[in-house]
Amino acid sequence: MKKKVAIVTGASGQDGAYLIKLLLKKNYKVVAALRRNSNINTSRLTSLGLEHVTSNFSKAEIELTEFTNCANLISKLKPSEFYNLAAQSFVKTSFDQPIYTTHVNSLGVLNCLESIRNFSPKTKFYQASTSEMYGNPINKIMNEKTEFAPISPYAVSKLYSYHMTKLYRQAYNLFCVNGILFNHESPFRGQEFVTQKIITSLVKIKKNKQKFLLLGNLDSYRDWGHAKDYVDAMWLMMQQKKPSDYVISTGKTYTIRDFVNRSSKYLKMNIAWKGSGLNEIGYDTRTNKEIIKINKQFYRPAEVNYLRGDPTKAKKELKWRPKYNLDSLIADMCDAALEKY
Ligand code: NDP
Ligand code: GDP
Repeated sequence: MKKKVAIVTGASGQDGAYLIKLLLKKNYKVVAALRRNSNINTSRLTSLGLEHVTSNFSKAEIELTEFTNCANLISKLKPSEFYNLAAQSFVKTSFDQPIYTTHVNSLGVLNCLESIRNFSPKTKFYQASTSEMYGNPINKIMNEKTEFAPISPYAVSKLYSYHMTKLYRQAYNLFCVNGILFNHESPFRGQEFVTQKIITSLVKIKKNKQKFLLLGNLDSYRDWGHAKDYVDAMWLMMQQKKPSDYVISTGKTYTIRDFVNRSSKYLKMNIAWKGSGLNEIGYDTRTNKEIIKINKQFYRPAEVNYLRGDPTKAKKELKWRPKYNLDSLIADMCDAALEKY
């Protein structure tokens, strides 16, 4: 039987690396779509053994904002599945770079959809949508029917693509799905995101390689899962008879402070808190040394205070079964950081 071909954009990112590994295990021919950089960042792929081109694995250049580039790649390969994971993915940066964020996260997605519609209408399309699109709804648990009220340029740009993906499904009968993924982390998570920042800093502090960890708002809640589990869900969505949108989450939520406490416990560090607001500090109870400080620079102009997703539809229809919980996620990230530093 002819092998399925999949294109994965955002191949140098956290999810791209895990998804490519999964697709290769499932016997796909995978094309890792990377943008040209002065310093091509393929360290995640390399650490999974995906360095060299093989009969099943190759690399292609993609710049999402360039229609010609998307159209040429799609019309040439006519892949069975196209996973669009590329994005300016950091919420905080989207406040400083709203126009760039919109170019990539909105128009970039439209470039892919138009290329599929015109040149390869049988290609199935996955769009990396996000729980950030909910903003701060009244509901305390969010599902596929919860109203969206985005409060960052990132979330607004992703909501545009969410709707376009749905529209191309409805108007042109294309197989297009949105994975509405809640935060997911792993040893491959970017250094700017709070989980990786906390774990990397605590490990460095433990090893006397860093003095302080500076954080912003400790009181927001996030529903954190493991990226390895979440790429399973992406693939499952693409194997359904009918395309649909799915929330992928754990159903549990914790504050940033909880995440610090659980990570420090795993690392056998004893942290206690005192003070409040910008004057709050976290200190080592054995040495009394301040190790965590709050810094205004890490606050956002608008904050999503509480995220908790209801994955019932994915569990029922996709039979998605995540393997990690928050503590095993933290253990995986801490072990990787302990080895690295
Ligand atoms: P990363 O930030 O790790 O990866 C983003 C990828 O997009 C990188 O490979 C980056 O390439 C690529 N990229 C950025 N701009 C362009 C562009 N103009 N053209 C082509 N490629 C580009 O993200 P994650 O792996 O964590 O997330 C994957 C997707 O899922 C993203 O779309 C994200 O917004 C979304 N998402 C993520 C969640 C999470 O918790 N991780 C939650 C919900 C949604 P380069 O290396 O060159 O910068
Ligand atoms: P996001 O949910 O996609 O924005 O993922 P992040 O990991 O960037 O942020 C998660 C939450 O942590 C947000 O509510 C941030 O305000 C909060 N946070 C607190 N301190 C920090 C920090 O120093 N860096 C980041 N990235 N987030 C922080």
